[in-house]
Amino acid sequence: MSTATKPSSSVVKRPQIRQSECFINGQWQPAASGKTFETVDPATEAVITQVAEGDAADVDLAVTAARRAFEDSAWSRMDARDRGRLMLKLADLIEAEAEELTALETWDNGKPIRDARAADLPLAVDCLRYYAGFADKIQGETIPVRGNYFTYTRREPVGVVGQIIPWNFPMLMVAWKWGPALAAGCTIVMKPAEQTPLTCLRLARLAQKAGFPDGVINVVPGYGPTAGAALVRHPGVDKIAFTGEHLTAQTIMKEAAPTLKRLTFELGGKSPNIVFADADLEAAVAGAHFGLFFNQGQCCCAGSRVFVQEKIHDQFVERIVAMSQSRRLGDPFDVQTEQGPQVDRNQFDKIMKYIELGKKEGARCVAGGDRFGDRGYFVKPTVLDQVTDQMAVAREEIFGPVMSVLTFRDVDEVVQRGNNTFYGLAAAVWTRDVSKAHHMARRLRAGTVWVNCYDVFDAAAPFGGFKMSGQGRELGAKGLDGYLETKTVTVALD
Ligand code: ADP
Repeated sequence: MSTATKPSSSVVKRPQIRQSECFINGQWQPAASGKTFETVDPATEAVITQVAEGDAADVDLAVTAARRAFEDSAWSRMDARDRGRLMLKLADLIEAEAEELTALETWDNGKPIRDARAADLPLAVDCLRYYAGFADKIQGETIPVRGNYFTYTRREPVGVVGQIIPWNFPMLMVAWKWGPALAAGCTIVMKPAEQTPLTCLRLARLAQKAGFPDGVINVVPGYGPTAGAALVRHPGVDKIAFTGEHLTAQTIMKEAAPTLKRLTFELGGKSPNIVFADADLEAAVAGAHFGLFFNQGQCCCAGSRVFVQEKIHDQFVERIVAMSQSRRLGDPFDVQTEQGPQVDRNQFDKIMKYIELGKKEGARCVAGGDRFGDRGYFVKPTVLDQVTDQMAVAREEIFGPVMSVLTFRDVDEVVQRGNNTFYGLAAAVWTRDVSKAHHMARRLRAGTVWVNCYDVFDAAAPFGGFKMSGQGRELGAKGLDGYLETKTVTVALD
């Protein structure tokens, strides 16, 4: 693996670290406890920098600042159109710092620089611009009620929102969370994932530069059970928006019960990617490869159960193996690299355990199956064939580059088996038969169904889970719902 020790023209430089403290009320400050934690480069296992380790005390300061900002006329009375303009300014500043931000994301997360450039950054900018356009289009209704009254509704911001995000798309998750919250007029306390706090802090600096009033956006880096839990319990927080594991969401739901906070969740998945014999095979193979291996397999909507119709199984497996084996792994700062390391040692260990478990349970490992190199948390793209529904690798979210291939005979069988999971985030269908495609789209119990494509995201298209994959939706007009209260106003006319 060529790393930064052997730079070539196709290797991007690591950026300067500018922010590593809590951002509270427009000020950069160390954690009240003075503690810090390390954030590590997953490609080299070297420490990147120390980051302020916020906890309950810092969360309390941040929530107080966010509450004050929510009530202050500088924000609460700001014209909606001006709120939108601030968001557009932020999007412009992000775009202007694209080089640094993408390099920072690659360093902290390990994702290939080409992905950070092609996906994370442009999608984040687009999401902020999309929601900026909504700021002045949030409106109520007039309602014909009985009697001589005039009744109308107002859609008002829910208040102070706590936002807790994961490490797989750090910058993009900031945009998904800040976009609708700011458009709605909420104020924010965000806790980034402990593995990847750096781009979130950099975006907070850009928000400050864009001119958001102090306290509208606050960032408290730290750990889940301390900083995260404090945010969930804090009586000054009106709503929690969380993306992460369903087990954490269960804890959050319990912890939020005493204060009855509004909750939206975007959780995990075990998404079926269904390839019919009448599909364009080349496209389906490429789609299955991308749908699973993109972002090192660290996607909540990864197509991790690939159902292949019996008669094309052998052709499919031959092609998917060849494609997996030709995937370019290595230094994520090299613009040629397609797959970087997993985010940390825990994830690496968990994935290796699942690969062993899959083999033990009788799956055939036909590609990968072991570590790549001897430094960094790299896992070779792995394909497990002859997987059956009851195996752990077919039921549990692995969150790594491990594809399970299962075979099926007909539509009814694959619908039943595809839906046979407590998750329901995404699904995909590959077929040339348009009726079958729509039939499948209706019967699959998932928040998103892709037909002849995978991982197509758009800021305008709602995303979220059925069943235990989530609650509420992000993106699109629907994504605003979780950040708004509806107020009914009734006026006696005489
Ligand atoms: P992952 O296993 O992918 O890290 P988690 O659900 O553990 O997923 O983490 C997602 C986010 O939730 C992170 O920011 C993490 O710090 C935070 N988190 C973890 N535990 C808690 C908790 N008990 N309360 C609030 N936030 C938490």
